[in-house]
Amino acid sequence: MSIRIHALIPTTEVNGPGKRFGIWLQGCSRKCPDCYNPDAQDAAGGYEMSIEDLYHKIISTQGIEGVSFSGGEPLEQAEALIELMTKIKESTSLTILIFTAFTMPQLKEYPSLLRLADNIVLNAKQEKEHFNCLNRPSVCLSDQLPQDIELHILENGDVQITGFPNEYEKGLIECFVSK
Ligand code: SF4
Repeated sequence: MSIRIHALIPTTEVNGPGKRFGIWLQGCSRKCPDCYNPDAQDAAGGYEMSIEDLYHKIISTQGIEGVSFSGGEPLEQAEALIELMTKIKESTSLTILIFTAFTMPQLKEYPSLLRLADNIVLNAKQEKEHFNCLNRPSVCLSDQLPQDIELHILENGDVQITGFPNEYEKGLIECFVSK
């Protein structure tokens, strides 16, 4: 099975507790007018990667404590996501954190995903003070999600800005994106 990727950041420290492998999945049908990642909306965009290759990329990354999934909307590739999560949980001690815009009733349709995830951050497009966390809330409430940003140059040369900016950083990002 393959999974459609928007971006990979092998080590990020602003997408959950500790050093994490960040995976932004491609595709989101919600079309929020103020989308923070519009390039990730097109389900045919990004690129495909086999679950096996992505799994090996994750486990060969040194020093990470977990994997964070965002997007796009990760749950729109639920089958592939669950297959990857299962492989990670069967053979590593990495924690799994998912940022999603799905609601709790929608998530209940995926019991295996709820079992495999260490934390699921609902309302992921809200300010972090309004996040709701499932499973083990103590691991992921807002004080453990640093209000900070990172700028990464990806393998394809694109620049990815990620994290939770403060007001000053939001202004800087707007200037950067509008150029
Ligand atoms: S749910 Fe998130 S990725 Fe999807 S359109 Fe809204 S802000 Fe963008």
